[in-house]
Amino acid sequence: MRKTFDLVVFATGGVGRLYKKNANNWTTTGDGIAIAAKMGCELNDMEFVQFHPTLLNSKKFPNQLISEAVRGAGGILVDENGIKIMQDIHRLKDLAPRDIVSREIFKQQQAGHEIYLDISNVIRFEEKFPSITAILNQDKESCANWQETKLIPVTPGAHFFMGGIKTDSDGLTNIPGVFAIGECANTGVHGANRLASNSLLECLVFGYRAAKYIKRLVDAQNKTDNQIELKVLVIGSGLAGSWFSYLIQDFCDVTIITKGSQTDCNSALAQGGVACAIDSSDSIQSHYEDTLEAGDYHNNKENTKILVTEGVEVIQKLIELGCPFDRNADNSLQFALEGAHSRPRVLHLGGDQSGKLLHQFVQSLWTKVEVIENAPVAAVQKINSDLFEITFEDLDKPDSNWAGSNWADLPEKNWQNIGIIRNTSNMKKYINELGQVELSDKSILVSQEITKAALARKESLGAHYLE
Ligand SMILES: Cc1cc2nc3c(=O)[nH]c(=O)nc-3n(C[C@H](O)[C@H](O)[C@H](O)COP(=O)(O)OP(=O)(O)OC[C@H]3O[C@@H](n4cnc5c(N)ncnc54)[C@H](O)[C@@H]3O)c2cc1C
Repeated sequence: MRKTFDLVVFATGGVGRLYKKNANNWTTTGDGIAIAAKMGCELNDMEFVQFHPTLLNSKKFPNQLISEAVRGAGGILVDENGIKIMQDIHRLKDLAPRDIVSREIFKQQQAGHEIYLDISNVIRFEEKFPSITAILNQDKESCANWQETKLIPVTPGAHFFMGGIKTDSDGLTNIPGVFAIGECANTGVHGANRLASNSLLECLVFGYRAAKYIKRLVDAQNKTDNQIELKVLVIGSGLAGSWFSYLIQDFCDVTIITKGSQTDCNSALAQGGVACAIDSSDSIQSHYEDTLEAGDYHNNKENTKILVTEGVEVIQKLIELGCPFDRNADNSLQFALEGAHSRPRVLHLGGDQSGKLLHQFVQSLWTKVEVIENAPVAAVQKINSDLFEITFEDLDKPDSNWAGSNWADLPEKNWQNIGIIRNTSNMKKYINELGQVELSDKSILVSQEITKAALARKESLGAHYLE
């Protein structure tokens, strides 16, 4: 199957499924990043993999996240003896940046402890976290009696990718006509470690900017060429791809190609929400500073300013469009506190169903978007100065490179790259181990880029980043 397009937009999400323990949807295997790299797109910050501290420690639901909002609402990390593990580790205790909490849990596990999230202090847990409650109720083995004990077993796992396809502040890569938005893109706004709920905001803000850029292109060309219609290919139907497609549908011919169903994506899994300093008592500067601190100051400062500033504009636009953010009884917006934010500023939808409801809402705005489901893209090629051609994975071939069926079984002890690579002594051996597991070419490429970048970072940052 062959198709051609004028512009290509990667919105293919992160890499979480390359790791054995992860909180990601099955589609998240770094495909877009590998395809873009093969085309010659520059990658950046590939060593920055974020591990979330609290995945449910469960055989039945190995990829289930227990949102940071649970700690924001009063959940405390304890060991099997009830000892609070984060007390003396960081001034924000249980709400310290994710890499710090993940490392501490891992350290405790290495010392033989089991770690739990104690929710005794969380008021109206079931009402605030309906999706998590439903999962806990179904997991009779790992979560038996959780309503009495108030203890949820947790463990860290791969969660979010800060690195990816390098873009400018309008989503443009180094190849003319090729854009990247959302988690597969590297705008540098998350630095070495993403602040909670800044990712959906990144999808919204940089998707909006890429759409405005393309509108400017179309307007400029229409002045001379008379009503051209650009054919735009969007790869991926998560929040970034869906929002961007909505924004350009009136002036481009837009097709989304997606690997599974149009709801198979990480966006639909987001339990926290969207961080935004939209409340009159909040400040953009404080959101900016929290983002830099969480990112260990590796952030691209210009783009981070854009994220927090234009984020307010984008959220206002969504509110005008009727987006159902959670509200208080007096109809004011409700703000939740999440890890490493200095104040409550995270907007939710339906409690812990934010990603699913926001994604649904955005897709409900489509009027002219064509979606091709269950069609994983294998490659994108530039066939002349104006046109791109794509090819699809051959799903009939059992050993085809359909990432998702084959994912990297990285050793569970691969915690050195939690947030920031601090000790990469084991990294080389992963390349060998990767060779032994069944992996798609794309997954191998991305895993190797992560490893290579980790080793390079170690050399450039020196002892400061070694434990
Ligand atoms: C459990 C969980 C909870 C989270 N909670 C929050 C939160 O509360 N707040 C927050 O800001 N962020 C949160 N995040 C992060 C956030 O959800 C993601 O970073 C964000 O949704 C990424 O959106 P995206 O559109 O870039 O990618 P995705 O939503 O992952 O979409 C990627 C799309 O690309 C498609 N795709 C992939 N490969 C191919 C291919 N080869 N061919 C065709 N299509 C392809 C996929 O099928 C999918 O449709 C959470 C993440 C997880 C996993």
